[in-house]
Amino acid sequence: MAKKGQTYFCEICRQKVVVTREGFGVLVCCGQEMHLVGAKGMMATWTAAHHKPEDGVKFQCDVCGQQIDVIVETTGILECCGQRMHRIEANVG
Ligand SMILES: [Zn+2]
Ligand SMILES: [Zn+2]
Repeated sequence: MAKKGQTYFCEICRQKVVVTREGFGVLVCCGQEMHLVGAKGMMATWTAAHHKPEDGVKFQCDVCGQQIDVIVETTGILECCGQRMHRIEANVG
């Protein structure tokens, strides 16, 4: 299960997201489970460098309430709990 602050990425399209609200659902992109980026290793380092939550696109799962920030956006389809996640409009102004 995803935990707040964890980073996940898709091996297929390289989309990358950060969990901003925990849910019980499994994050899926391009039809397969997204991979957790560990706290250690190079991946975590360059992920942190690209993490700009203020500018990020947010998605939410209506089933489990999980929310994510997309930090590397691709055309990959994000799913959770077996359905597409809904894009949330950022709070601007
Ligand atoms: Zn869910
Ligand atoms: Zn993908």
